[in-house]
Amino acid sequence: MNYIVLVKQVPDVTQITGNAFNPETGNLNRGALPSVINKLDADALAFADKMRESSPGNIICLTMGPPMAIDVLRYSLSRCADNAVLLSDRALGGADTPSTANPLAYAVRKIAKEMFDGKNDFVVISGMQSVDGDTAQVPPQIAAELQIPCIAYATDFEFTEGNFVIKTIVSGGNQSVTPGKFPCVITVAGYEYPLFARFDRSRWANNVEIISWSADDIKPTLYGYPGSRTKVTRVFPPPKSTRRNKHVTDIDTFISELVADFKKGGTVSNYVPEEREYILPAVRSAGTFDRGYEASNKDNEAFNLVTKALAKLKITDIDRINETTAERLKDYVDGNIPDYKLKEMLEGFKATQPSYSGDVWVIAEHDRSKIHNVTLELLGKAVELARSLNVRVGGVLIGNMCKQMATEIIAYGADDVYVVEHKLLDDFRPGPYMKAVTYVINRYKPQIVLSGATPQGRVLTPMVAYSLNCGLTADCTRLDIRDNTRQGDIAILMQTRPALGGNVMATICAKDSKLQMATARPGVMKKINPDYSRTGKIITDDVALDESDIGYDIVSAELSGGIPNLTTADIIVSGGRGLRNREKYDKLLKGMVSGFRKKLGCEVEFGASRAAVEHGFIGRPHQVGQTGTAVSPKLYIAIGISGAIQHVIGIENSDIIVAVNSDPKAPIFKYSDYYIIGNAEEIIPKITNALNK
Ligand code: FAD
Repeated sequence: MNYIVLVKQVPDVTQITGNAFNPETGNLNRGALPSVINKLDADALAFADKMRESSPGNIICLTMGPPMAIDVLRYSLSRCADNAVLLSDRALGGADTPSTANPLAYAVRKIAKEMFDGKNDFVVISGMQSVDGDTAQVPPQIAAELQIPCIAYATDFEFTEGNFVIKTIVSGGNQSVTPGKFPCVITVAGYEYPLFARFDRSRWANNVEIISWSADDIKPTLYGYPGSRTKVTRVFPPPKSTRRNKHVTDIDTFISELVADFKKGGTVSNYVPEEREYILPAVRSAGTFDRGYEASNKDNEAFNLVTKALAKLKITDIDRINETTAERLKDYVDGNIPDYKLKEMLEGFKATQPSYSGDVWVIAEHDRSKIHNVTLELLGKAVELARSLNVRVGGVLIGNMCKQMATEIIAYGADDVYVVEHKLLDDFRPGPYMKAVTYVINRYKPQIVLSGATPQGRVLTPMVAYSLNCGLTADCTRLDIRDNTRQGDIAILMQTRPALGGNVMATICAKDSKLQMATARPGVMKKINPDYSRTGKIITDDVALDESDIGYDIVSAELSGGIPNLTTADIIVSGGRGLRNREKYDKLLKGMVSGFRKKLGCEVEFGASRAAVEHGFIGRPHQVGQTGTAVSPKLYIAIGISGAIQHVIGIENSDIIVAVNSDPKAPIFKYSDYYIIGNAEEIIPKITNALNK
């Protein structure tokens, strides 16, 4: 077996300081930050090195980037790689995920042809995401381009009876799978195995000649900014946290205060209600030019100035602008807007037709009997978007004998449910699911397709987007319909997501795409109240699938099967690696959980960080965070949890957050309403006592 490991050089975002980037523009001063290998790519390298112990072969590392990216290749060579390829060309710059995946896939083809003699027994391994982009889209999109299976979120493997059995994280638990065919893509979601640079290897790695390819050498079909399918509309600082950050020193007083807050319904809500609903130009009341404009801060200011000027000049109909009024308008804006911009803006006001047509769809995720919470939340959002656009809401339901769940999808807002059933769709696997979803999208042509940013959604949606040649924005926290008349965009989906480890927010929209696609984080959008008396249309389709579409076999699975109730619990008491072992986790947290149950008479559930799960304190279904469950209880208590971004994005929507940590500088404190500095073994019994008083 041969191995191609994709490695990326990234700025060390853990060291971001105030002056390292401009939060208004999002521009990173790369010189202010050291460049490092993306941590998960280093894990992928270790994964490949370990796989090679069972099935020997060569490891080739591949990176795409500026000439300085050669450093990550030398890093990889000094650890375990046998050869390295640098893909570097100005033409490849400015790329989004499909126009990054495409050249990388072409480079993989060239490596296979020239370095593996065209043999197919190889694996492409990469970190599942990079810390700068964080989208997790490139590896599945490489699989889509190469039309090979994608085994996502690998954390470990065994080699038994001549086969690799790969342990992966899936929505709601773990799954062990074995590749059905090679080549395949494996994305690594963390692998703790030390790989050190040996002195002799480092000397060789620093001097060996590295293969360098340009765009011309690989002839990609999609690359650089022209090949990108998304564009950034605006970058802005994240909203300031409204958490209290109260340092607790007296436990009894704290418990009384906490109980009072809990009964009031929490101290804060991070949910920002929509400012206003978008109204299509054609049905706007006369006299308003307010289009729900979204653009760069500068263009936003210009837009506001122009609409004010139009109001002041009592111009309510754009056709009334003649040379005289245009001159008066120019005087009013007083040189604050360049003439060409003003002209573009006024031209844009004449555009009234939406840029896209079709319905708003949500790809449903389910566990064979119940629809995932994030799907219901997205249906709530889809209802709002569809109302603005005056179109219908559709749900896409893929599985085997799953049609009965259409009722729930309709109750939560769908007008139509597109159902594809097949026995090969019984378990989720990206290959056949991608075929089914792309089939219905191509057939019924929605304008917006949303999906949950869950382990399932984060592998399926990028593959669907790639195969449809569409843009996709991952992990959105906000979705709005807006215009940007300067760019001729009317009624388009503005997709806002945190970037650079949550240090900036970016609003992104589709470019050169026939539809607009986004995944959204669980717990961010709001469900509507279900109405089981609603009726909707169920449209059934057949998709031709055969065994060769499956890609990999599922050997075993450990899924939550309905427990625990992390998404419905009022209180979650979560433990991290700081609790040291399973016995301490059980001993300390059980008393506290029953204390809260008694005191507040509500549903209390156990949660855990990924580190706690991986150290066996509790099962995977209890994991909270990006690759676990995103939660939004009334009260979340994090004990011995450091506050890594992947954990925090899963708890941000909790009403009250309490953290207990022995490290006074623990990042989790920044996100807390109450924090207690101290050893959990001393603090937790005091909290339990106070609750039992
Ligand atoms: P640590 O980071 O080791 O922190 C332990 C904390 O305990 C420290 O802050 C320490 O000060 C404190 N402590 C130690 N002793 C005591 C004591 N006696 N009393 C009180 N405090 C003590 N993580 C998740 O949680 N959920 C996810 O879904 C998730 N998804 C991930 C996805 C990807 C792709 C990646 C790369 C990582 C993901 N992670 C996730 C992992 C995440 O980056 C962190 O590694 C993990 O959250 C750390 O867990 P922890 O806070 O329990 O452990």
